[in-house]
Parts: sequence; C-alpha cells; structure tokens
Amino acid sequence: MQKQIAQSKHWLDKVVDGILKWQEKNNIVQLHVDDMKTPSGRVHTGALRGVLLHDLVAQVLRERGVIAESTYVFNDMDPMDGLPSYLEESVFAEHMGKPLYKIPKPDLEKCGIDLSRVSVEELEDLKNAKNFAEIYAFDFIHAFRSLGCSQEIVWSHELYESGKMDELIRLALNSVEPMRKIYQDVAKYQLPENWYPFQVICPVCGKLGTTLVTDWDGKEVTFECQENKVAWAKGCGHKAKISPFGGTGKLLWKVDWPAHWTAMGVNVEGAGKDHSSAGGSRDMANAECEQVFKIPVPFNIPYEWILIRGAKMSSSKGVGTSAREFTKLFPPAVGRFLFASRNYAQVIDFDPATMAIPDLFDEYDQGARIAWGQEEGDERLARAFVLSQVAQAQQVSFLPRFRDVALWMQYPDKDLLEEFAKVKNAPLNELEQALLKERMAYAEIWLENYAPTDYQLRPRAELPEEAKNLSEQQRAFLKELQVLLDEKKDLAPADLQQQIFELSKKSIGPRPAFESIYLLLLGKKAGPRAAWLLQATALELLKSRFEEI
Ligand SMILES: [Zn+2]
Repeated sequence: MQKQIAQSKHWLDKVVDGILKWQEKNNIVQLHVDDMKTPSGRVHTGALRGVLLHDLVAQVLRERGVIAESTYVFNDMDPMDGLPSYLEESVFAEHMGKPLYKIPKPDLEKCGIDLSRVSVEELEDLKNAKNFAEIYAFDFIHAFRSLGCSQEIVWSHELYESGKMDELIRLALNSVEPMRKIYQDVAKYQLPENWYPFQVICPVCGKLGTTLVTDWDGKEVTFECQENKVAWAKGCGHKAKISPFGGTGKLLWKVDWPAHWTAMGVNVEGAGKDHSSAGGSRDMANAECEQVFKIPVPFNIPYEWILIRGAKMSSSKGVGTSAREFTKLFPPAVGRFLFASRNYAQVIDFDPATMAIPDLFDEYDQGARIAWGQEEGDERLARAFVLSQVAQAQQVSFLPRFRDVALWMQYPDKDLLEEFAKVKNAPLNELEQALLKERMAYAEIWLENYAPTDYQLRPRAELPEEAKNLSEQQRAFLKELQVLLDEKKDLAPADLQQQIFELSKKSIGPRPAFESIYLLLLGKKAGPRAAWLLQATALELLKSRFEEI
C-alpha cells in the first residue's frame, strides 16, 4: 500500500547520488562509511547528528543495492585533557593525560549519567564497562542504537594493538618532511625542529598527553615525558627509546584521522563544520591522504550542528542535553525522523520547552499520511517517514495527534479511545491502541518537563501566581463551593457540574465562577469541565488551595 516516492527529491537521495557518481569516477569497488568520536565524558546530543547522518547514508546506499560497510570508531586512545564537571577531581586528577581506555571507570552513581533513564539491560552494560572510555561510549551507543543506528563499533586502541596501524606509523614517521610542508601549506603552521607525528604512552607514569617524540631511527622513537608540556597534566620526566608499534602510542590527531581511513579502507566520512573549515583538520587529513598515505580522499559531507535550547533543560538535571536523555523524548522512529527530515546543511535548532515536540510529531504524521497515500503533500516528508521506520513499518492507518493526546489525557472526564475513535470515524485497532498508549507515555514526559503552561491543565503543585488576583466575589464563591463539595462528596460528576452551575447563578454568575476554579487550580481562565477537574484533584491539595485563598 506504500506509495511510490520520487526518490530524487529527498536530500539523502541526492547525497547518495553524489557518492555513487564519485565512486564511479574514482573506480572504488566497495564503499565504507565511517564516523568517529572521542569518549571523554557523557556524550551530548550534538554528536547524534553525525551518527544519524552516516547511518541514514548507509541505509540509502544499501537500498540501492550497494554493499556499504558502516563503522563507528571510538578514539579511546586519546588522552584525558579535561575533567567533566560531574566527576570528582580528587579521583581523576592523577589520570589526566592518560589514554581514555587506560583510565578506570567512575563509580556508576557518580558518573554523570542519569540512571533513572537507563533500562535494566543498559545498566548491565554500564556495570560491565571495563574502563572510562567504555562507560561513556556504551551510554552513547545505547542512545544511537535506540534510533535504529546499526554501525559496527571499532575501538581505536584495538586497531593499534592489532598491528594494523604499524605500517602507517612507519610511513608517517618517515614522512616528516612532506608532513611539515602540509602543515605549512594547509594550516599555515610552522612545526618545530625534531617534530614527529607520534606520542608514546609513558611506560613509567602511563601518560600520553605529556610525551614528546624527538627522534626516530627506523626502529625506535626517542621520547621524553615532560613535566610541563601541557597545562592539564604533569609528566614524570622519564626519557627513553621505545618501538612505536603494536599500541605503545598513537599518531597525533591530524595524522591519526587519515591513518584510520587508510587502515580501515574508509571512503565516505562526513565531518562536522568545526572540522570542515578552511585549513582545518579535514583539509589537513585530505592533503595527507593524497601526499602521504596515497589513498583517494574520502567523500565528505560537511554537516551542520544540532542546537538544543530551553532554560528548563540546562537548569533541571540537564534533561535533553545528553544524547541518552534526548532520545527519551520521543519514540525511536520520531527521533530518527527529526534527523532524516532535516537537510545535513541546515542547522537543527530544537527547543523542547516550546511546541517543538508536538510540531515534530505533526510533521511525522503528515509524512506518514503522504506515504500511505491518504494525503497530498511534500513527498520528502514521506521519504523521511519511510527512512525512519526502525522496526517494521507499523500497519496502522491512523495516528492519534500527539498534542491532542497530551491535552485530552489531562481531562479527567475524557476517554481517549472514544475521543480518537470519533476523530478516526472507527474504533482504533489493536496496533493503533498500542500506539496511543506509547504516545501517552511520551506526552507524559512532555507535560512533566517541557510543555508550555497553556498545555498544562493539571492542578499545579503550588498556588498559581494568577490566583492571587481573584476578586473578593470570586473568593466568596469559592468558599461556598468548598461547602458544596464537602456536602456532596459522592455525587456523580455530571450532577456535581449541574450543582456548581446552579450555585454560580445564585452568586456571581457562571463565567466568573468557573474562571475562579481554573485560576485557583491551573492559574488560567479556562480548563476542563470543572466537576471532573475538582474530583480528579487530590483532596489534600484541594483543601490547602481553599485555605491559601
Ligand atoms: Zn611519564
């Protein structure tokens, strides 16, 4: 029943067209898509952009029948060069400068990951993490796996230890002169005398960030572990010669990157715009591919940021700022849709504290209806919808609108199954009921943490500011209402509604009367039907509200 979608229209199809043309021109047999990240702490939402982009590109390549390998490298040999604010300095100060995979993992309770959002299996994984790099990498992997990303994971230190980097290390150490010229020409950077693109893990103190290689004799490098080489770590002063092979150290970042491409056979790797600026690390890496490693420069997709805003997010426990927390805001397919629907060259500016989440659901639903042939519209949305189906596309023909779910579930008198059956004009089938349930769970998160007050119809925990402006007459009415509620505790809501109406007519009139109820409980002038709202409000809360005014 899925409609044929014009593929050339979607940006991902255009990117893949470009890759295939480039593949043909460069005579490349097999495509290998890759992306990488240093796991130096809790991974932020921004890093999801690259992961999703590369996974979607690999997905479309496979759709076209092209065999595409897809990997994600964790640069776990990088040294710890800064301490995340949530980690204890007394514990980690001694590890500054060590490669991340050699640093012990922090205590789970103190690692900065919100464990309340971690499933049982995920928690097991975090418990089993062997080192600092793994615990944060695992946390990030959980986040992107939940959005359907299927990259194979590569640990950089294993690549070094396997010996697969050895010939490239030799080549790099033998190519100091051409490298010097590349640094000068591309980055306008003058390298010091005795420069070598390699750092040793000091065999005495275990640090890598503090070592400087000063010579290379074709078999061993001469190095010093300098006390004051960097501000963030102190070296031990050890000087020695060591073989640079088999994981005793690593290439410097700007050489490490193209060396990974060469060792792994990577030929498609996009870079965030911070790396893609003129004279930046991407330009350097490209020049090294051509002049040192002699491989075709991988196809680049210079992608834009994702910005996450919202005051609520940064102040309260950082909800939404870490990749894991972000992925808990929507069902997997809707989260994936956010990335599939936005062109890589466009900034994603996402503020959960606005209507961004309901708007995203609306776009997703629209994409679904176009894909199902229920509606005419932008076929790119339909294509993004199809690419977002991480599990099998659900066989439903109706999606309950998210903002209605969020609103109606706050009305104590509304039965959502009935309400949506009215909208659909037929009862919801089993899958649609399950989907409604799922949306209710995400609506709960939205209402609890982000929804603008217009959408929050539940009694507030504190006396609303707005209730302080109640008139004398309204206060008097509320006193009468309290008596009525005490007397008519067991009344059915419809009958109670009638009695409140009668009472209001005898005193200040229905409009100011009902307004006073909403101001008292919700801080706004309108709301769900008053009797249902009052009966759904906890007695304790109701009692203290009446006393407060
Ligand atoms: Zn040392």
